Amino acid sequence: MKTHRIAVIPGDGIGKEVVPEGLRVLDAAARRFGLGLAYEHFDWSCETYRKTGRMMPADGLDRLREFDAIFLGAVGYPGVPDHVSLWGLLIPIRRRFEQYACVRPIRLYPGLDSPLRDPAGLDLVVIRENVEGEYSEIGGRLYQGSEGELAVQESVFTRRGVDRILRHAFDLARTRRRRVTSATKSNGIIHTMPYWDERFAAIAAEYPDVSTDQFHIDILTAHFVLRPGRFDVVVGSNLFGDILSDLGAAVAGTIGIAPSANINPERKHPSMFEPVHGSAPDIAGKGVANPIAQILSGAMMLEHLGHGDAARAIEQAVESALGDRRLHTPDMGGRATTAELGAAIAGAL
Ligand code: ATP
Ligand code: MG
Repeated sequence: MKTHRIAVIPGDGIGKEVVPEGLRVLDAAARRFGLGLAYEHFDWSCETYRKTGRMMPADGLDRLREFDAIFLGAVGYPGVPDHVSLWGLLIPIRRRFEQYACVRPIRLYPGLDSPLRDPAGLDLVVIRENVEGEYSEIGGRLYQGSEGELAVQESVFTRRGVDRILRHAFDLARTRRRRVTSATKSNGIIHTMPYWDERFAAIAAEYPDVSTDQFHIDILTAHFVLRPGRFDVVVGSNLFGDILSDLGAAVAGTIGIAPSANINPERKHPSMFEPVHGSAPDIAGKGVANPIAQILSGAMMLEHLGHGDAARAIEQAVESALGDRRLHTPDMGGRATTAELGAAIAGAL
């Protein structure tokens, strides 16, 4: 069997605590299914930045290029501005490797309390456009220090970029319940969002077997809370997809269980798998972070590498561990540690 080469970047804060649990579960899956996984560790982080002035070495992207996948914890830490950790590592990786589809599944796990009164049927995937849109470098400040000071930020929506993310959403919907919802805001954002809507209609016509609808982002967030069961695949721009996936993770019970994949669908480059959550400095170093988001990100990685059976087995092991409240970490209302929960999931495998 082919050995998959995995670049492991634990990063900062709880990234260093949950990645070892993710690897422990991947190893258990590899043993059970006879998979070959070879890891190489990279200690790139805000600490690296403090020592060297860079989040990763100048040839960092070239070194990652050779891998089959990247397994990332979280980057970002107090004292280092967010834009340094984001633009010094995460965003260059996503862009260089054309990981334009950010896939964030959200579902209800048994044994977990959702803050919603009626979470019935919550089982959706947010597809976020990952390399263009609102998160652009174009813009700046004018007349600094004067009364007329102003800041401008441009959004960029290319036909290539919009069409390919929409197609990714429709293709995924065909493997699920065949419904795509588009997040828009064409009543307030009058250039880019009407364009997005126009392309959504054009791509939808290529998929007559998939039903569609669209909502403005403001009311869409309300529906996520009030009627989450009505959604299957939800596709949004970089900003809207970001917001929806954090919200989705929260309504599922805790952000500590939400995995994500930054996919290069053409498989020309490595894809990257990381939890939705960040480095959580408020709980870092205490050994109480929930490792499930990292572990499920590992399941998504195995799925992407062609091992759907192993991915499903990890999900089942997570479900069985969640059935035991003694294994819940504090974010789930319990008292278990990161390592206890990780070991139980690996054991269940
Ligand atoms: P980022 O900007 O990287 O997305 P953030 O500022 O949104 O980060 P997070 O680091 O995701 O913040 O943390 C948000 C809150 O969720 C914090 O209170 C944190 O403790 C909690 N949290 C995040 N991840 C976990 C986890 N795995 N287990 C338990 N609590 C978590
Ligand atoms: Mg966040």
